[in-house]
Amino acid sequence: MDDCIFCKIIKGEIPSITVYEDDDVKAFLDISQATKGHTLLVPKKHVQDIFAYDDALAQKVLTKIPMVAQAIKDSDPKILGLNIVNNNGEVAYQSVFHSHIHFIPRYGKDDGFSMAFSDNSAKYDQDALNQTAAAIKAQFN
Ligand code: AMP
Ligand code: ZN
Repeated sequence: MDDCIFCKIIKGEIPSITVYEDDDVKAFLDISQATKGHTLLVPKKHVQDIFAYDDALAQKVLTKIPMVAQAIKDSDPKILGLNIVNNNGEVAYQSVFHSHIHFIPRYGKDDGFSMAFSDNSAKYDQDALNQTAAAIKAQFN
């Protein structure tokens, strides 16, 4: 895609610091470095988000997640954990609309990165949860 920053990175038109590359994916350091070693894994094929993957693309891209995670973890003994984040849609904080997976190494509670999961369990009774689950389950046919 012509005006896509990650397609330009893949084509070498914009510089990047690459840590892994094969026929199907490229992994490079995120320019913002939320924490040291923050890496992005992108499919070489331009797809906007996770909803654009078919099984073949998922096989080519998503199966590489553990390998990239392991390489990052093994690169620095100070890394204690890793957040793997994939934003889909502006409302979900996606700002570059070429699908990518963030690997954010964690060094401790005060390493500059945080995520919060609100506890809304009191808002949903068993009926509401069952209805929600039924709506999702119905999509797998
Ligand atoms: P997201 O908000 O999930 O779409 O994440 C987009 C990410 O792309 C951000 O973390 C940016 O720092 C990163 N980014 C944008 N431009 C570049 C670039 N030229 N090289 C590396 N990372 C970039
Ligand atoms: Zn692209």
